[in-house]
Amino acid sequence: MMSVNIQTHEFDAIIVGAGGAGLRAALQLAQSDIKVAVISKVFPTRSHTVAAQGGIAAALGNVADDQWIWHMYDTIKGSDYLGDQDAIEFMCKNAAKAIYELEHFGMPFDRLNDGKIFQRPFGGMTQNYGEKSISRTCAVADRTGHSMLHTLYQKNVEAKTQFFIEWFALDLVRNEEGEVLGILALEMETGEVHFIKSKATLLATGGAGRIFKASTNAFINTGDGLGMSARAGIPLQDMEFWQFHPTAVLNAGVLITEGARGEGGYLINSLGERFMERYAPKSKDLASRDVVSRAVAMEINEGRGVGKNKDAVFLKLDHLGESLIEKKLPGIREIAKTFLNVDPVKDPIPITPTIHYMMGGIPTNIDGQVVSPSLNGTQEIVPGLYAVGECACVSVHGANRLGSNSLLDLVVFGKAAGEKITQDVKQNKIMRPTPKNAFDKTLSRLNRLEKQTDGYTVKEIGENMRYSMQKYCGVFRNDALLKKGIDEINTIAKQSENSFIKDKSKVFNTARIEALELDNLIEVAMATIHSANARTESRGAHCRDDFTERDDTNWLKHTLYLRQNNEVSFKPVNLKPLTVDSFEPKKRVY
Ligand SMILES: Cc1cc2nc3c(=O)[nH]c(=O)nc-3n(C[C@H](O)[C@H](O)[C@H](O)COP(=O)(O)OP(=O)(O)OC[C@H]3O[C@@H](n4cnc5c(N)ncnc54)[C@H](O)[C@@H]3O)c2cc1C
Repeated sequence: MMSVNIQTHEFDAIIVGAGGAGLRAALQLAQSDIKVAVISKVFPTRSHTVAAQGGIAAALGNVADDQWIWHMYDTIKGSDYLGDQDAIEFMCKNAAKAIYELEHFGMPFDRLNDGKIFQRPFGGMTQNYGEKSISRTCAVADRTGHSMLHTLYQKNVEAKTQFFIEWFALDLVRNEEGEVLGILALEMETGEVHFIKSKATLLATGGAGRIFKASTNAFINTGDGLGMSARAGIPLQDMEFWQFHPTAVLNAGVLITEGARGEGGYLINSLGERFMERYAPKSKDLASRDVVSRAVAMEINEGRGVGKNKDAVFLKLDHLGESLIEKKLPGIREIAKTFLNVDPVKDPIPITPTIHYMMGGIPTNIDGQVVSPSLNGTQEIVPGLYAVGECACVSVHGANRLGSNSLLDLVVFGKAAGEKITQDVKQNKIMRPTPKNAFDKTLSRLNRLEKQTDGYTVKEIGENMRYSMQKYCGVFRNDALLKKGIDEINTIAKQSENSFIKDKSKVFNTARIEALELDNLIEVAMATIHSANARTESRGAHCRDDFTERDDTNWLKHTLYLRQNNEVSFKPVNLKPLTVDSFEPKKRVY
């Protein structure tokens, strides 16, 4: 049974999430003598960051001449001009420092013959403002995230960060003034509810790719931080922008890194044509992900797909030779053998575009502070609340993220948020009192779940949601599809108010966790489909066949979805960088 005896724990800062973002922020805090705790629903090194393969971008110039401002230009262009240019400047300028920091923490980067850090080409990364592809992505073979996450975890252990492992964050606790006072969490082993009270609460809960049926994301990527924020009255930004990765294993969803194309692999259709030459004459297979995914979808739609159902294309690697594949892409070879019984040293891998990354999220500024529109329309900082990593939208990725920019986003903004929280906590000596009714809504959500004995099972609702999102909010969208999708998701959201756990007496707390995750997934799905319906243009990953062009006159702005009344409002894109001149929107060709 769910206990109502709530224990309180006090910290200066509580971080929800032990992926790359949460751990980088935690390290900054622990090293600054802030009393910090990290809570994670899985063991820290099982966070999705562990699955990142290809690498982390920084203009180190180890392979060819490079400058951070070229990286900045590529990121803005990649974002289809929706990214905020102050944040993008901050990230690209701090990238090299972030890499050297990771190196000094002990991350074992691959090396070039001269001993410098190895770098490989990635989509959309170019020299001299789009002139030609450049090697900018630092890597540890095809296991970069694994290596980064383990390095950061070890450093946190050394710095004595406190961990609450296999604890599930339920909701934010807010007072009447809107200040965030901490979180309520469920200890998964015992089912007990705890209040973790803190001066600063940082959400680093990662992505939510599990709202779709076919996804490269881990099963734990359920958008919990977004659900918590939405329920606490905080808007979600740019939720219509979801990245499809062009190359995931057909039917399994397992990712084949863009690094495979970076190392010289390329795509072919059933006629054996290297079709990317037609869609992106200059960058070909290393065009931006949205461009490559649409090209693959077009080839499949026009009947040039491969496989039994003609629903894939081939990724060809055999010409790279066994020794390069073994050295630089060993994990990819293993994945292809395990999931497809294909050895890429000999045969091409059937792949298909699959949901991969959420560009939108909880709106923040460069310091990781959450910003929310106030009643008079200005943007105001939510006191006590911060967000970083994939769950946040500081807007460096805009409408489309460039590969290897996410791991960079985690460490640059993780550190920045850690620095800001250190400052804020040192100034703020008082723990604010907790209002009497602050836990009511969460407890009644838990109680309902406990009492409900019929209705729709969590499994049914989840399957329907994933099916509908995939069908009505996929690579190509239009008014009819989205309207139908809204109807479906609204119905599913209603059903989820009566979701129930079958055979409650027989199942362990994991079934409760799945039910609670479903609440969060539904919040994310609602935000996504309503925002997608609102945006009547095509930009980056949001592609509508009824509004095929980008429309800067009307749509060079961010969407903000508010849960109450499913309202979508807007805020301007920040086109003003911190120190350099703006990059004005131009037609985006690769
Ligand atoms: C297969 C794959 C490959 C990728 N490859 C690359 C790459 O090569 N380069 C790149 O730049 N990007 C890559 N990405 C993207 C990048 O890895 C992610 O965007 C990034 O790792 C997310 O990190 P994070 O710290 O925000 O969240 P995560 O690493 O997802 O961690 C989230 C954390 O939050 C915790 N959590 C969530 N909800 C709760 C809750 N309710 N209570 C308690 N804890 C909770 C989890 O336990 C976990 O610790 C890849 C992504 C995938 C899926």
